[in-house]
Amino acid sequence: YVVCFEDLSERKEAARLIKNLAYYDELTGLPNRRFLLEQLDKSFGQTLNQELVGALLFIDIDHFKSINDIHCHQKGDEVLLVISRILETSVDREDKIYRWGGEEFLLFLPHSPIARALMVAEAIRQAISEYQTLSVTVSIGVAEHHDGEAIDQLFYRVDKALYAAKNDGRNRVTRLPSENVAAHSGRSE
Ligand code: GH3
Ligand code: MG
Ligand code: MG
Repeated sequence: YVVCFEDLSERKEAARLIKNLAYYDELTGLPNRRFLLEQLDKSFGQTLNQELVGALLFIDIDHFKSINDIHCHQKGDEVLLVISRILETSVDREDKIYRWGGEEFLLFLPHSPIARALMVAEAIRQAISEYQTLSVTVSIGVAEHHDGEAIDQLFYRVDKALYAAKNDGRNRVTRLPSENVAAHSGRSE
């Protein structure tokens, strides 16, 4: 019986480890892109309720490649860690932080009006730019969810907002003007 019990708990532990590797980022411990996409699929389906979704922040470290090149990859990893901890202290309990990929983070602020999303984004931008031991900045795209909008449309818009922040000179928060929503969702607002 003892042997069977140990086998079972080992198997459970192995399954837990595999799940962690698949859904969490090894460096920062944050949930990863796969985690977010599967969660969205499960909870919301195709049409999403505006209040439930709230707003998205898409954060990308500026000139991160140079940090790796000038210092080293390990220093780059340290920066990623520090930034992920700053993000964690900048949001509320119900907000969700994901490491989207390389040096990109996605913040999901459920039930959050755009005004709050912009404030959170600005606070994050400032906290990172003022962090004493780093000379690193981030660009942040912000988008609020519109009722009935599909999630890929929202991702498309937040990505566009980030791209605009980069084009405008980096180290800034950008939200696309609302006419972009109508243009890309086919709705007449
Ligand atoms: P931009 O201001 O336009 O965002 O420029 P950038 O240099 O940040 O953008 P780019 O996408 O060219 O570079 C991202 C770099 O991030 C390239 C890649 O080597 C590095 N990177 C991705 N993942 C990791 C990681 O886990 N650790 C470290 N140290 N570097 C990483
Ligand atoms: Mg990037
Ligand atoms: Mg970058």
